[in-house]
Amino acid sequence: MTRRLYYEDSHRKEFQAVVTACEKAENYWRVSLDQTAFFPEGGGQAGDSGFLEDVEIFDTHEKQGIVWHYAKAPLDPGAQVLGRIDWDKRFSRMQQHSGEHIVSGLVHARFGYDNVGFHLGEQEVTLDFNGNITKEELVEIELEANKAVFANLPVQISFPSREELAFLEYRSKIEIEGQVRIVTIPGIDVCACCAPHVKQTGEIGLIKLTGVQSHRGGVRVNMLAGIRALEDYREKEASVKAVSVLLSAKENQTAGAVERLKQEAYELKGRLMCLNLARIQEKAAAVSEGTENPVYFETDLDMDTCREFVNLLTERSRGTACVFAGNDTEGWRYVFGSHTEDTRPLCRYLNGEFQGKGGGKPEMVQGSLKGNQESIREAADRFLNNPSL
Ligand SMILES: [Zn+2]
Repeated sequence: MTRRLYYEDSHRKEFQAVVTACEKAENYWRVSLDQTAFFPEGGGQAGDSGFLEDVEIFDTHEKQGIVWHYAKAPLDPGAQVLGRIDWDKRFSRMQQHSGEHIVSGLVHARFGYDNVGFHLGEQEVTLDFNGNITKEELVEIELEANKAVFANLPVQISFPSREELAFLEYRSKIEIEGQVRIVTIPGIDVCACCAPHVKQTGEIGLIKLTGVQSHRGGVRVNMLAGIRALEDYREKEASVKAVSVLLSAKENQTAGAVERLKQEAYELKGRLMCLNLARIQEKAAAVSEGTENPVYFETDLDMDTCREFVNLLTERSRGTACVFAGNDTEGWRYVFGSHTEDTRPLCRYLNGEFQGKGGGKPEMVQGSLKGNQESIREAADRFLNNPSL
């Protein structure tokens, strides 16, 4: 059995130990020690990484009471080694995990829900509960959780006897072989858990609940604690600052400014459509009655107005009316219409000549082409004068 230094002191970063075994695995080595501060995977928390002397340990797992350090190089059994765990990573995980106990304890006390899924990833932390929590309730839970942090409560570890356990109210009450380890945050939570935790809740720092969504008949809550909450704040702050500069709006008033901008864009779009409509009405009126196969190229015209233009042209002209909108670099969108001809053969012909897409009904087709105005016009004229092409 490996002596667990992380249970004696969850803040132990360095330790001396003797190598008791070293086994070759696929492309790494499994090393056991007489004692270790490396926490093996458990309770939803991943195994620690770090170094034994200068050999990198990339993961830690437990098997039958022995803690195995997954090493990138072998170590000699019997050798004395200095172990150093990746403290930043471990401390962040403890912040998330102790934070999770607080939130789960508060949710359990208020709603009676169980935490039925806990994911402590390197970026994301999620808590699943078997009941509904609204966004408003989540804000209240978040405030309560942070009050528990500010109160700097002790995180107490105990190993109650079987008899004591039988009468103890705690979360994660399942039959566990051997000694059950209870993690208590006074007044907030009592839970069976094997992972290392912070010593005082103040170490957790901010607890931010960033989202809640329906999940398997209950909810999934997203949480960030400590350093991760700070990093999230920094990212969001940078984003808000950038938007605030772009809109010349105060940082806490960007949403209103975006709303106004959207409204402005909407109105401008409306005005542009009116102007375009007036422009095409003028153009269509200038077409003399009975003109054959009118073809127009416009640089700035939306599809609705293009269709309207084609409708106006077909009223006055004979044959097929063609309207193209766009430019030579980005390509041309088109609408063709006719009261007498099937417009689809022209559509197919031009699609074939200019890597085009599109189609429609005999009386109207629409689509897009790639090519320059001159060649498209030539090809269209060619086809309209000789539809057997
Ligand atoms: Zn736990």
